[in-house]
Amino acid sequence: MNSPYEVLLYYKYSRIADPETYAAEHRDLCRRLALKGRILIAREGINGTVSGTVGNCAEYRRVLDADPVTAGIAWKIDQEEGHVFPKMSIKVREEVVTLDLGEEDFTPEDLTATHLKPEEWRKAMKEEDVVILDARNDYEWEIGRFAGAILPDVPSFRDLPKWVRDHRAELEGKKILTYCTGGIRCEKFSGFLLKEGFNDVFQLDGGIVTYGKDEAVRGEGYEGECYVFDERLSVPVNRTDGAKVISKCAYCGGESIRYRNCRWMPCNAQFLCCEKCETGKGRYCGPLCKEVDIMSRAAHY
Ligand SMILES: [Zn+2]
Ligand SMILES: [Zn+2]
Repeated sequence: MNSPYEVLLYYKYSRIADPETYAAEHRDLCRRLALKGRILIAREGINGTVSGTVGNCAEYRRVLDADPVTAGIAWKIDQEEGHVFPKMSIKVREEVVTLDLGEEDFTPEDLTATHLKPEEWRKAMKEEDVVILDARNDYEWEIGRFAGAILPDVPSFRDLPKWVRDHRAELEGKKILTYCTGGIRCEKFSGFLLKEGFNDVFQLDGGIVTYGKDEAVRGEGYEGECYVFDERLSVPVNRTDGAKVISKCAYCGGESIRYRNCRWMPCNAQFLCCEKCETGKGRYCGPLCKEVDIMSRAAHY
């Protein structure tokens, strides 16, 4: 396949002394290379996902690899036909990922769990007395996750600490394997688990995306697709014969990985809906939104 565009997913924990100035320079760089996407910059590092032409993405990687602040990034690269973001957004934040720990906060540069490479992870998943813990949000694991993983019913990453404290019994005394999309959330979350007193904690190096690209494991043991925060919404992971769809259409219950946003703007909720049901029932998360939307449209005549 000879695709004209690339999608890059990356992060780097590294000291950025003046995030505002760094962000301004980074904006110029991205404008010059006509990249689109979302980038967060903080004193503790950078976290981004961007799309651009193959040549411009190569130049972007070259510039970051040559900068001591960002050298050593483990780039995740997808081939695409075009941009997967509508625009570029570069924001300065307190942290690149936040667990809302307040006084107890720490940086993964000081504390994080042991990384497992894809082959080590595949082996570890099969051991006894392990728990596989998904560190993502509920709408992410709904369309795909490692078989047998514990799936915290949290809508946001910052809800995970409370979830862990409420579910200690499920994790106590076990070897904990934690994973997320590209690895950055686990850098922090696995450090939090260590701080909480769990001492047998491991994280999937490079996340699900790297696991899916690895030629030795080919995504083995992963079910469904991997949710991504761009217009693609999800990407395939498991390239073995055991791959299957696990999520269901909200209407008919048939297999579907098709996320849509509710057409009633004030709701805008994301829901799973197969093509047939969208055509038949309209792009609404439920009958109530459909009714309200149709009534409000009628009111404008
Ligand atoms: Zn359906
Ligand atoms: Zn709705």
